[in-house]
Amino acid sequence: MQQLMFVKPGQVEWGDGPEPMLIDEGDALVRPLVVATCDIDRGFIDGTVRVPGPFPLGHEGVAEVVSTGPGVRSVAPGDRVVVAFQLSCGRCERCTRGLTSSCLAVPPRAAFGMEPLAGKWGGFFSDFVRVPHADAVLVKLPEGVSPAAVASGSDNLPDAYRTVAPHLAARPGASVLVVGGGAWSVGLYAAGMARALGAGRVDYVDHDPRRLAIAERMGAHVIDGPLPERLGPYAITVDASANPAGLALALRSTEPYGVATSVGIYFQPQTPVPLYDMFVSGITFHTGRANARTDLPAVLGLITSGKFDPSPVTTHLVNWEDAARALLELPVKLVAVRE
Ligand SMILES: [Zn+2]
Ligand SMILES: [Zn+2]
Repeated sequence: MQQLMFVKPGQVEWGDGPEPMLIDEGDALVRPLVVATCDIDRGFIDGTVRVPGPFPLGHEGVAEVVSTGPGVRSVAPGDRVVVAFQLSCGRCERCTRGLTSSCLAVPPRAAFGMEPLAGKWGGFFSDFVRVPHADAVLVKLPEGVSPAAVASGSDNLPDAYRTVAPHLAARPGASVLVVGGGAWSVGLYAAGMARALGAGRVDYVDHDPRRLAIAERMGAHVIDGPLPERLGPYAITVDASANPAGLALALRSTEPYGVATSVGIYFQPQTPVPLYDMFVSGITFHTGRANARTDLPAVLGLITSGKFDPSPVTTHLVNWEDAARALLELPVKLVAVRE
């Protein structure tokens, strides 16, 4: 079967791979129909996230169920589903607490499309993908929703949701700062979701004209230029910069007893943080991987309600066959649609 492989920075290509089969009774075999890029895919391609290739790419998308093992109850062949990027069983002690990124029944960090970081589970830019624990991992596509609109429901949309939704629920109308530039689409989604969820003020700081224009369309007030030391303060801050200066800006700009969340991944063994400022302000700092499967239904609800439209973030909507070429243009968000 055909699959899109990351080979090395600047090189992705279609190749032939082994067709997956049902193995366990809870497995499903799915055919990806619409696949989106995650922010980390761009990092692989531009070389800022250093991992060895080749490996099959893609971990966000909507697929059609092709076949299911005898233990699968919630989906059937022909169903269209959003596939959470992380594998989770839905039944262990962690999953039942919503910590689906850290399921005890699968290897640590198990996820699709990132073989060197997450194991060998296949990528979504493929003709077929085997989905273990299908009842837990797959969520039916809601009626009347375009698959292209929710393709990032697998990962980047719930990643953005967790940075603002629980904190705005606790403090309705609170102010939000998003520091963009690293996890491009997560930062932009977070700004749009903050607006949709009733934030008072939503400021988005970045230096890139293309992303600033999208942030404006998402309803944010944009702050252009190099990162200052401090802004605000804001009740809720989001670091999507993947830049220690951006992280420090978000942490210093969080008001006393506010909440800061960092989604930009810091691969270096140590990253400085302004701990004294954090101590004085008494802020709560969250970092960590999203529990994508847990927040996916709420994300789909926010989109189907019409309150939040993720489409301005999609800069490249392309035919399936054009995905390899378009990936090299470093889209903010690429969505590839199979004919
Ligand atoms: Zn991802
Ligand atoms: Zn589990």
